[in-house]
Amino acid sequence: MQTVSNTRKDLEDLQHRLLLATDASKLGIWDWDLSNNTFIWDDQMYKLYGLNKDTFQVTYETLRNRIYPDDLKKMEKGLESALAGKKEIHLDFRAVLDDKSIKHMRMLAKVQTDEQGKAIRIVGTNMDITSYVKADEKFKNLLEAAPDAMIIVNEKGIIEIVNSEAENLFEYSREELIGSTIELIMPETFRASHVLHRHAFFEHPVRRPMGEGRRLTAQKKSGKIFPVEISLSPIDSENGRLVSAAIRDITKRIETESTLRKYATLESKSKEMEQFAYAASHDLREPLLTIQNYIHLIDLHKEKFDQQTCNYFDTISKAANKMEKLIIGLLDYSRLSKQKKLLEIDSNQIIHEIIAELNELIVSTGAKITVQPLPTLKAYPLELKLLFQNLISNAIKFRKKDTKPIITISACKVNNGWQFSIHDNGIGIDELHQEKIFALFQRLHNASEYDGTGIGLANCRKIAEIHGGNIWVKSKINEFSNFYFTILTDQF
Ligand code: ADP
Repeated sequence: MQTVSNTRKDLEDLQHRLLLATDASKLGIWDWDLSNNTFIWDDQMYKLYGLNKDTFQVTYETLRNRIYPDDLKKMEKGLESALAGKKEIHLDFRAVLDDKSIKHMRMLAKVQTDEQGKAIRIVGTNMDITSYVKADEKFKNLLEAAPDAMIIVNEKGIIEIVNSEAENLFEYSREELIGSTIELIMPETFRASHVLHRHAFFEHPVRRPMGEGRRLTAQKKSGKIFPVEISLSPIDSENGRLVSAAIRDITKRIETESTLRKYATLESKSKEMEQFAYAASHDLREPLLTIQNYIHLIDLHKEKFDQQTCNYFDTISKAANKMEKLIIGLLDYSRLSKQKKLLEIDSNQIIHEIIAELNELIVSTGAKITVQPLPTLKAYPLELKLLFQNLISNAIKFRKKDTKPIITISACKVNNGWQFSIHDNGIGIDELHQEKIFALFQRLHNASEYDGTGIGLANCRKIAEIHGGNIWVKSKINEFSNFYFTILTDQF
């Protein structure tokens, strides 16, 4: 008697524990007798579907109506294959409740057969997995929203999840990526060693940037290899440990860094050059002055020398004057810098001053200068004047023999400043030399043809640059030269 009551007590306890467990895990149990098509549901099943045990009649048809239409086929296929011999059903589906809300369910079931192998009963569970599905959706949405390509791999290095950024970056479709090993997106030469790195990471998985101190690269489907930055994080999931990799294409960043490095080198080189030009020209001036002074003294006593000696002195004097011009040009060049004060300048005014100053040359050469309306802008006044002066006097100087210079000066607004143009009908410049004429001491003619130092356009380039602008020329030999330069106004 004692044992029977003990056994009953044990059974009741067991039932109670089972009830608690199924309730906590939202797990409903059902039993379908196929011979007479009747269902037995436990209380949890009614709860899951929000149905009343006393009024709801469970049949295959009433249940079928509660399955989300898109999942019906999947459900029927699962049943069919279980009945046809697979004996097990394992599928996720959506149930539609009477209030039209949707619950995500996971069904696990087993088919029982009679001695002839005919299915007679299916017993199974339904579990409410809505919160997992929602969490999963949220995770996938977050993954999609990530600015980087995200790839999640399992311990075997097989890609399990990717976002669309990963598809874009590596040019593989989601289907091609998922199921492949992560080495698919690595350059061939790096694949073997990566397998070792991968094993090492899974042994000590901590969130960290990958390949610290080394330049990492990845490979697109097209074979193109490009630099990347990768950070790795371990994720513990129900299917074991996963690793998420956030991959960023850093091609642009590397290009910018290298351009900045180039600029820094150029800037320091040009500073050195300025200092050298200043020191050299400054120190050269003194001995030159001495030479010029002595030539002046000799000139005062030239009656003491014969004609030939006088001619020699004359040549020395001309060379010394030329040298003085060169030195002054170099000094000007080295003094041009950004440290001056920007002022609001009317460029029409500057041009009128220059034309007045060049009046003698203009009259003697018969030059015709047309000035279209020019802007008022913020600039370094002396420098801007020097720039126009050089370009206008060159336009007159490099005229064709027997052709009067016709020069047009104009300006137009560009994105972030002004673009000026000085057009002439002179000798023109061969395309081959159109870049090099802006370098220091570059001349295309000897002094007997056209006088000069080769410093003017180097100065012009420097002046345009200290205004954040640029200078260039378009020209056709024997027809015209059109010098353009820009002065940026936005940056000031
Ligand atoms: P410079 O005028 O003292 O020779 P620049 O630096 O001003 O030196 O000019 C460099 C060279 O560019 C000139 O020697 C000349 O060959 C060419 N050049 C400059 N401006 C013109 C122009 N308007 N037409 C044709 N050639 C030009």
